[in-house]
Amino acid sequence: MTVYDLHCHSNASDGALSPTDLLSRAAAQDVDVLALTDHDGTEGMAEARETAAGLPITLVAGVEISVTWGANTVHIVGLNIDTDNPTLQTGLSALRDYRRGRAEEIGKRLEKAGINGAYQGARQYASETMLGRMHFAQFLVENGYAKDTREVFKKFLVRNKPGYVPGDWANLEDALGWIHAAGGQAVIAHPARYKMTATKLRRLISEFKELGGVGFEVCSGLQHAEEIRHLATLANKYELLAACGSDFHSPQQSWTELGKISPLPASVTPIWSTWTQHDKRKFA
Ligand code: AMP
Ligand code: MN
Ligand code: MN
Ligand code: MN
Repeated sequence: MTVYDLHCHSNASDGALSPTDLLSRAAAQDVDVLALTDHDGTEGMAEARETAAGLPITLVAGVEISVTWGANTVHIVGLNIDTDNPTLQTGLSALRDYRRGRAEEIGKRLEKAGINGAYQGARQYASETMLGRMHFAQFLVENGYAKDTREVFKKFLVRNKPGYVPGDWANLEDALGWIHAAGGQAVIAHPARYKMTATKLRRLISEFKELGGVGFEVCSGLQHAEEIRHLATLANKYELLAACGSDFHSPQQSWTELGKISPLPASVTPIWSTWTQHDKRKFA
């Protein structure tokens, strides 16, 4: 059986491992096809390609784009993208610029809550290009403000907490436009995590489909069977292709591992059924 993991992060965004270590770990976990999907950037792909060439693994070029949809932040994964596409890169670069300003604002808000040096502190954990809440989380854990990153988010970084800054990311249309300009397929990432009402999620799916989106992440890591059944039903109802990914960030997050994903139900059409061997090699 071919193991597909179509969602994970390297230290080019908020993952803990370098692209090389990530690929080696994926190979050791018997992943056959891995998509690197860093947040709002593809800087990790060059190193990932080099490492993948020496491993029994097929690398898929990907990205996870932050989108503001109404009052929600939604993540859209792009798969099989041409990372050299200027439309895509201009869009992603604007998002990373926005991230820098947002991070300064997060730092200021934490300062007001009595936590000093968070912005500079978070930067120590981040790559040159991408600064995110996970880097603040690492700083706050290291400095004893919470016991782990999960607790940090709950106490400081989500709505109604001192370090929360509402997102102002790409709109859905632009995000899909960039992915399509780069020849990729757009996928709604971890749909259950948005905690949307059924009506709202249906509206998101409709708009996404109208804009040419084709994929739905039916399996994200290890989930409850009931949730998978529900997402599989939605995928079939809206004729979306099913994707699956671990959303792996770090070996320290013991609840995730590369390739450890509940299997896709037999009823769905896997997104890779639309891929040719050529697709998989084309951009990666
Ligand atoms: P950002 O895109 O900078 O707002 O950060 C979002 C990232 O923070 C997600 O991709 C996760 O890596 C991480 N994250 C968000 N919520 C949580 C949470 N409750 N616990 C742990 N990590 C989280
Ligand atoms: Mn992340
Ligand atoms: Mn995400
Ligand atoms: Mn992710």
